[in-house]
Amino acid sequence: MSWKTEWLDRLVGAGEARSEAGRALLEERYRALSRQIPLLYAIGLANIAGLYLATKGAFGSFYNPITPLVLLLIVRLVHWLRARREMLAPERILIELRKTFFYALAFCVGFCGWALYQLSEDNPANHDLVILFGSLAAVGCAYGVSAYLAAARLPILLLGLPLATRLIFSPDPGHIGMGVSLSLILLLILHLLRIHDEGFSRLIESRTGIAAERERARRAERVAKVEKAKAKRTADTDPLTGLANRRAFLRHLARRAAALSRSGDGLALAILDLDGFKPINDTFGHATGDAVLEEVGARLTSVGGRSALAARIGGDEFALLFPRIRTVSGAKAIGAAVRSALEEPFVISGREFRISGCCGLTLLRVGDCDPAQALIRADSALYQAKHSGRAGIAVFSEEMDALNLRRVQIEDSLRLKASQDAIGLVFQPIRDLATGELRAFEALARWNHDLLGPVAPGEFIPIAEQINLIGELSERLLRDAVGEARRWAGSVRLSFNVSAVQLCVAGSADRLLTILAEAGLDPGRLQFEVTETALLVDFETARTNLQQFRAAGTRIVLDDFGAGHASISYLREMQFDGIKLDGSLIASPHDSMRSRRLLKGVLDLCAAMGLPCVAEHIETREQLELLRKLGCRDGQGYLLSPPVDAQAAAAMAGPRLTLLRAGSAAG
Ligand code: C2E
Ligand code: MG
Ligand code: MG
Repeated sequence: MSWKTEWLDRLVGAGEARSEAGRALLEERYRALSRQIPLLYAIGLANIAGLYLATKGAFGSFYNPITPLVLLLIVRLVHWLRARREMLAPERILIELRKTFFYALAFCVGFCGWALYQLSEDNPANHDLVILFGSLAAVGCAYGVSAYLAAARLPILLLGLPLATRLIFSPDPGHIGMGVSLSLILLLILHLLRIHDEGFSRLIESRTGIAAERERARRAERVAKVEKAKAKRTADTDPLTGLANRRAFLRHLARRAAALSRSGDGLALAILDLDGFKPINDTFGHATGDAVLEEVGARLTSVGGRSALAARIGGDEFALLFPRIRTVSGAKAIGAAVRSALEEPFVISGREFRISGCCGLTLLRVGDCDPAQALIRADSALYQAKHSGRAGIAVFSEEMDALNLRRVQIEDSLRLKASQDAIGLVFQPIRDLATGELRAFEALARWNHDLLGPVAPGEFIPIAEQINLIGELSERLLRDAVGEARRWAGSVRLSFNVSAVQLCVAGSADRLLTILAEAGLDPGRLQFEVTETALLVDFETARTNLQQFRAAGTRIVLDDFGAGHASISYLREMQFDGIKLDGSLIASPHDSMRSRRLLKGVLDLCAAMGLPCVAEHIETREQLELLRKLGCRDGQGYLLSPPVDAQAAAAMAGPRLTLLRAGSAAG
C-alpha cells in the first residue's frame, strides 16, 4: 500500500475489509448509513427549503450556487434509498463510504462557502437565518452520518465551526455570544460523535465476537455430531471387511427378531465358518489372510443384497440375516447361495485360493424368535455342517436339539472328575503284516457313560478339546497307558493319540514327557500319533512340541494320512517316523483300480521318503493280502484284532510274543 492510499484511507477513516471484525463493522456501518443517510439528505433538503420559505425567496439571486447542492442531495437521496435494499460486499461498501465522505466534503464546503458569503453580504436580516439553517444543517448532517465518524465530523468541522468562528469575529456582541455558545455545542457534539462511534465499534466488535463464538460452538457441535456418528459407525463396523461387527449384528438380530412379531414375517440366520482359513494366514501371511476375508465379506454382501445383513462376528466367522424366509427349503437355498458365492477362486496378489465355508442356518418365526436361542441353534447347525466336511450346510432341526442336549450332558460329565475318571483305555494291536509280529498297541479311549451308555472318543474328544479339558484328560490317559506298557515286552511299543488342540498348546510336550519320565518308560517305546489337523491349527507350536518329543527319543507318527488334506508339504517340513494310512484309503481298493493305484501311490510315496507305513481298518483278508503285496509294513484292524482291554493286551504282549502267521491272520 503506497503512502498516498494510506493517507487517503486514514482521512476517509471508513475501516478495513481484511479482518472478520473489520468486515462486520463495515457491514454494520453501511446498514446504519443506508437507514440514516436518506434522512440526512431529507434534512439537507428540508433545510434548504426552510431557508427558501423563511426568506420568501430572498435568496433567489443565490439559487445558482445552491442548485447543484440541491441536485447532489436529490441524487444521493435516491441512491441511498435504493441502496437500502441490498447488502454489498465489504470491498464495495468501502468504496461507497469513501464516496459518501467526498460527497459530504463537497456538500459541507459548498454550503459553508455559500453561508460565509451570505454573512459577508450587507443584509443583516438574513444573517440570523443563515446561521440558524447552517447550524441546523451541520448538526443534522453530523447525526445523519453518525455511523461513519469521519464523514460525520465534516459538517461540524467544515460547516458548523466556520460559521460559529465567523460569528465570534463579528462586531455584533449578540453574535459573539452566539458564536461562542455554538462553538462549544459543536465541540461537544464532536465529542459525542466520537463516543457514539467508539460505542458503535465496540458493540459491533462484541456482536461479531459473539457471532463468531456462536459459529465456533455451532461448528464444534457439528464436528462433535459427525465424530459421534463416525465413532458409532467405527464401533459397529468391522474395520477389515467394512461389514457390521458382532456387537452391531447382535443388536440388529434383536431388533429384527422383535419386529417379527409385528410383521408376521420370517427371518433366516446363517453362521458361516471358513474351512482351513488359518493355514492360509500362517503360510501366506496375514496380509493375504486379510485380503481373503475382505473378499469373502464383499461376496457375502452381494449374496444378501440390500435387504440382508452381513457381519463378521469372529476371525473367520461371518453371520448373515435374511428377511422374509419362512421355510427350511428357503434356508437351504440361502446356504447353497452362500456356498456358491465362495466357489469362484479367490485371486490375491496373483495367487489363486479356493475357499469354502460351513454354514449353519436357523429360522426365526413369529412365536419362536428368541435371538439368543437362534444363535445357539445356528451354532448347533454349524456344528452339524462341519461334521459333514468342507462346505457343509445344515439347517437347525429338532433332532439337533436332542444332539445338543446330549452334547451338553457330555460336556457336564467331562467337567465332573468322577465321571471323567470312568474314561478308560483299550489297546489295539499293530502288527507286522509279513510276520504277524506284534509291534505296538494303540491306546484308544473308551467311555461307558452311566446315562448315555458308550460314548465314542470321536464324540467326546472334540468336546473335551472345546472346553479345554483335553490336556487334563490326555495326561491322565497317558499315565494309565504308560503304566500298562511297562508290563509289556520291551519290543512292544505304545502308540498314543495326541489331540490336535493339545499339540497346539505350548508346553504340552514338557508335561507329557514328564509323565513318561516319572513312569520310567524308555521314550523309544512310545510313539505319538498326530493328525494333520493339529498342524493346520498352529503349525509353529505343533512343530515345537513335536521336535521336543523327537529330541526326547519318542517317535512321531502321522495319523489318518489321506483323510484330510494329505499335504505333502507337512511331510517335507516335519520329520515323522511313520505314517498311518487312513482307513478310507484301504476301504475299497480291491474293487476299484483307481483306489488301488491311489493306495500304491501313497505307499510308494512313503517308501520314497523312507517312512514305514501302518495301514488302519484292515477288515478283510483281501485288504490284508493287497497291503502285503504292495509292501505295507504294518497293519491294524478288526481282522487282526479288535481293541482289547488292558489285561488281554498284557497277555498278548507278554514276554512270549504272539506271532501271527501269514496264513492265520483272520484267526
Ligand atoms: P484313530 O487314532 O484313527 O483310531 C483308530 C480308530 O479306528 C479307533 O476308533 C478304532 O477303534 C477304529 N478301528 C480299529 N480297527 C478298525 C477296523 O477294522 N475298522 C474300523 N472301521 N474301525 C477300526 P475309536 O477308538 O472310536 O477312535 C476314534 C478316534 O478317536 C481315533 O482315531 C483317535 O483319533 C481318537 N481317539 C481315540 N482315543 C483317543 C485318545 O485317548 N486320545 C485322543 N486324543 N484321541 C483319541
Ligand atoms: Mg490313532
Ligand atoms: Mg487313525
